[in-house]
Order: sequence, then structure tokens, then C-alpha cells
Amino acid sequence: MPKTIRPPYSNAVVPPISVSSAYYFRDTEEFRRYKAGELPGGRYGRYDNPSWLQTEAELAQLEGTEEALLLPSGMSAVSNTVSALCKQGDRILYTGCAYRNLRTFFNEQMSQYGVEAHAISQADIQKFNEEFRNQYDDRCRIVFVEMPSNPHMYLVDLEYIKSVIDPQRTLLVVDSTFASPINCQPAKFGADLVIHSCTKYLGGHGDLLAGCVCGSSDLIDQIRNYRNISGAVVDGFTAFLLSRSIATLKVRMEQLNKTGLEVARILESHPAVRHVYYTGLVSHPHASLASKYLSGHGGVVAFELDCDAEETVGFVDRLKIPFMGTNFGSHQAMVEQCAEFTYYKLTIQERRDLNISDTLIRYTVGLEKTSDIITDIFSSLELVRSQSNTTVALSV
Ligand SMILES: *Cc1c(COP(=O)(O)O)cnc(C)c1O
Repeated sequence: MPKTIRPPYSNAVVPPISVSSAYYFRDTEEFRRYKAGELPGGRYGRYDNPSWLQTEAELAQLEGTEEALLLPSGMSAVSNTVSALCKQGDRILYTGCAYRNLRTFFNEQMSQYGVEAHAISQADIQKFNEEFRNQYDDRCRIVFVEMPSNPHMYLVDLEYIKSVIDPQRTLLVVDSTFASPINCQPAKFGADLVIHSCTKYLGGHGDLLAGCVCGSSDLIDQIRNYRNISGAVVDGFTAFLLSRSIATLKVRMEQLNKTGLEVARILESHPAVRHVYYTGLVSHPHASLASKYLSGHGGVVAFELDCDAEETVGFVDRLKIPFMGTNFGSHQAMVEQCAEFTYYKLTIQERRDLNISDTLIRYTVGLEKTSDIITDIFSSLELVRSQSNTTVALSV
């Protein structure tokens, strides 16, 4: 819109939050100009909202893609993307350690529409590559990669996948929620679409649910057309909150990366800790992939204690700083004993297949002081049995 006809106060540094469910036209002539693409503006709230446009432009810039699309949750970003792009007879290959609801969506929902999904475990990269090569065929429409995976932070070699797939038939879709756009930009390595649960790092304050998908204008257009029908849209206020969070994403991530690495290192040196899963440690099975794909490792540290399930409960319950709950990426530390909290509905065998042991803990640092977090963890670890005869100096 030319500056001369700018409405009052449209020079606000922070743009207004748009809440209108409809847009009007002065007369038919004006509407015709809108239809011809000569006049910018909106038609109806499910299709258009200027608050989305601002946030979507910021998301596209973060991922280095032509466009981005905002959706009301990470799951809706996945379900709208996959539903928009797959048809009956298509196949999806996906990383087996993917988010639980995603597996359910593929296996219980998409299967009803004749789309077949096949999971490949990514714990062992050699085996993953081998099985991927064997499973890939010309019915494969989407390769869906979650990386780093939750909670073990397993990766895959995106460039290897790109070298196997036929770019005419198959799209590489990466759920990069665990990395955030600060620690990884999958489009640089050939991902066609990048998905985030903006509920996590991007939102960053534990007070919004949103998701996004980023990619070329051509693909985003197709998903936008589907969103127009599915109605998976956010309100203007959520779009505003997310935009405000994006403004501080980089500094928040730098802090979370720093605290996460420190906590991971110190846990690894503790005798009551059996194993730590954190891509910033050289002990991580995918450390060499991490050095290729990740520039930071985030605030989630998964570790197993050298004790039994009930003693792990005791450790978690004694912690004073984190909230017990299932979220990450906000300013508040969170903790969960995975088998007890998120995976309790699975059978022992299913948990074993996903490498979820009874003593596995997912600890998410927030913006608390690093030394406070470590002191809290150490004092709780002191009462873990195998620890009782050992005194460990705090080296914060
Ligand atoms: C949380 C999460 C999702 C789902 O996002 P919602 O915003 O909760 O719908 C998808 N993928 C990953 C990796 C997640 O962590």
C-alpha cells in the first residue's frame, strides 16, 4: 500500500494484532480489482490474516526457504502437510524413533486412505541406510525424518537420503523441532519441507501451541490450499506471540545450548549416571553426523541412571527446580522419567524397541542459572543407591 494512503497509526513499530474474521470491499469494482490481484487484502479469516503473514515471513527467513505456513500445532503441521501431498497408493518411509502421535497418525489415520507407512529405526546409521535403500521404491512419496529424535537425539544422514531418492517423485520432509532453526537448517542439506512444533523452542515461553511448515512457494501453495479446506488456522494473537518469541530465539537458543552442554558433560562424569544421550558429547553414537548437521545441541538432555526404576522415581521427585511435565524449549526446566510419563501405555517390548529404559530421564533445561540446575541435580543424585558410598566434588 503506498505510504500516502496509509491509515492512521500504521507506522506502529509493532504491527497491530489482526482479529477480523472478515474483510470488506467498498463496491463490486473494488472486489473485482482484488480478484484480479491488483488490490492486496483479505477476503475471509480462514484464508487471510495479516498477523500470519508477518510471522510466516519470519519463519521462512529463519529456515532459508521461499515461504512458510503457520498452523495451530506441530501435529497439524504434520497432518496437513502429509494429507495435502499424499494420495492413495503412496508410501511414506519414516524414522522409527519419531514422535509417538506421528507414528499413530501414519499407521492409524493415513492407512485408512490407502497410504502405507514404514518405519526404519535410526539408532544404527549403517543399518538405517541399508534398510532405507532396500525399502525405497517409486511409490514412496514422502521420506519423513525427525531429527534429532526425541529423546535420544538420533540423527540421519540427509545427504545420503537425497542421493537415494528420486526428486521427481519423493519429498524429503524434516521435523526439525528438536534442533530449532538456530541449530540446524535442513533446507541447506536438501530437505524439501521443514516442519516445527512452534510450541517448543520457537514459542519458547510455554504459553502457545503452534506449528509451521517451510519450503518452496510451489509446495507451500499446495499445503495452503489444503489448510483453507481443513481449517487448521491460528488466531492473530497466537501469531503475534510467536512473532514476539522469534525476536529472541537466537539469544534464548545460545543460552539453552550452553547450559544443555554443561549439564550433559557434568552428568556424564557422574558415577550414578550410566549413560547420557546428547549430540554435543563425543560419546553420542551420531556425534560425527552432529558435527555435520548441527551447530548447537539444545536444552534437552536424556540420561539413564545406574539404579532401578523406583530409585529413578526418587531422583525425579527430589528435584526442586524443574516442573515434572512433558514439554521442552521454554524458559522453565522440565523433567520426566520417560517410561513412567510419556511411554506408560506401551508394552515392555515396545519400550525396549524404542530404547526407552526404566531409568531413562528427559531433562530439559530452561533459562535458570546453570549452577543452580547442576547443584539441584547433584543433590538429588546423592541419594541414588550406587552413589551412596561415593562423594563427588561439585565442579560447576
Ligand atoms: C511436540 C512435537 C511435535 C508435536 O507438536 P505439537 O505442537 O504438540 O502438536 C511434533 N514433533 C516433535 C519433534 C515434537 O517435539
